[in-house]
Amino acid sequence: MSKDIPVINCETDTGWLTVDQARGRILKQVNPVNGYERVAIREGLHRILAHDVISPISVPPYENSAMDGYAVRAADLSNPGDTRLSVIGTAFAGIPFDRLVNQGEAVRIMTGAKLPTGADAVVMQEQVQRDGDNITLTRSHRTGENVRHIGEDIKAGAVVLAQGKIIGPAELGLLASLGVPEITVTRKLRVAFFSTGDELRAVGEPLDDGQIYDSNRYTLHGMLRELGVEMLDMGVIPDDRAAVEAAFLTAAGLADVFITSGGVSVGEADFVKETLEKLGQVNFWKISMKPGKPLAFGRVREAVFFGLPGNPVSVMATYYQFVLPALRKMLGQAQLTSLTFKVVCKTRLKKHPGRTDFQRGILSRDDHDQLVVDATGMQGSHILSGMSRANCFIILPAESGDIEAGSLVEVQPFSSL
Ligand code: AMP
Ligand code: MG
Repeated sequence: MSKDIPVINCETDTGWLTVDQARGRILKQVNPVNGYERVAIREGLHRILAHDVISPISVPPYENSAMDGYAVRAADLSNPGDTRLSVIGTAFAGIPFDRLVNQGEAVRIMTGAKLPTGADAVVMQEQVQRDGDNITLTRSHRTGENVRHIGEDIKAGAVVLAQGKIIGPAELGLLASLGVPEITVTRKLRVAFFSTGDELRAVGEPLDDGQIYDSNRYTLHGMLRELGVEMLDMGVIPDDRAAVEAAFLTAAGLADVFITSGGVSVGEADFVKETLEKLGQVNFWKISMKPGKPLAFGRVREAVFFGLPGNPVSVMATYYQFVLPALRKMLGQAQLTSLTFKVVCKTRLKKHPGRTDFQRGILSRDDHDQLVVDATGMQGSHILSGMSRANCFIILPAESGDIEAGSLVEVQPFSSL
């Protein structure tokens, strides 16, 4: 470890912070990581663009037909009454018809086929009568009808995907449609994590009296994997000063970010606090949210550190509200926070004024096809089964008391997280 990294005393903030204040402070203190890599577009799925992608071509690259039908000159069809045109050939997708279409002529054309020179509209095959080499049309058609124009999707030279965009299935297709074989994406973040607690056992081990299985490393694994970071699972660290200190140093040396769970609540915090005091600059906050009151955040050596509470639902709630936006910023993503919207609450919800609630909810449609939400029942921060039944957070503002059935409440679908 280099000598010039200052060892700054741990700052203990005894005041309460709102969720927005805490998120704001965190986002101010993290920056996009340096480094990017060139990858084949398929390998870019779920990665973040490090540079704008400029389209090398127009899409569509040539005027083509949106229908199976007949390529015609619209001017031939402007007179009312029946029009007869002679069919002089066929244009297939990939096999253009390379002669001029003159007055009184039409070309049989397939969807996606290049519009022959001279033609400026396509008449659907259902709207013509074919009779040998002739077709009859009974009404007028406008110029450009059923024609896909050059560059109507994307113009050559335009920024088609901006820096910070997440590559999804549509982007893979879009890049392929431009003939782009490779993209530049931000490098993967390295994220280490471990659980703390003498009571924790790993799956596969027998449980003694007073012990529980460690579930936080599994939810963290799932949440981090969905984000596509490189993970370093350091296992369970006992509540032992030397072991915790060694784990903090190892994690800080190996990762851009490390996340712990447990050990930051009152009673345990002093011990962890003392250790962190020696190693970096970390704030211990009380956040006015439920679940997830205690949160430690700062730097240990050069790594960003998140000390999440121990309770399993608190881990997920604080990860989604604080860690995820920070990781998104470090990854260079343009969109940091997740979608929320308001829906009608089906039943009465109990709430004490004071903290922002992140209740676990189920979004569904009622008998009138209206989007509604209901809470999942017991809301304790240890009830992980409720998190599993839920498909959204119901976010109730700090000052609010009980919510009456039929009120509008804010929800954050898990699918947007
Ligand atoms: P702590 O913040 O360490 O006091 O933990 C708060 C509560 O969360 C206690 O009931 C712990 O047993 C529980 N807990 C802590 N870590 C884990 C974990 N990794 N998996 C499941 N429960 C945990
Ligand atoms: Mg503990």
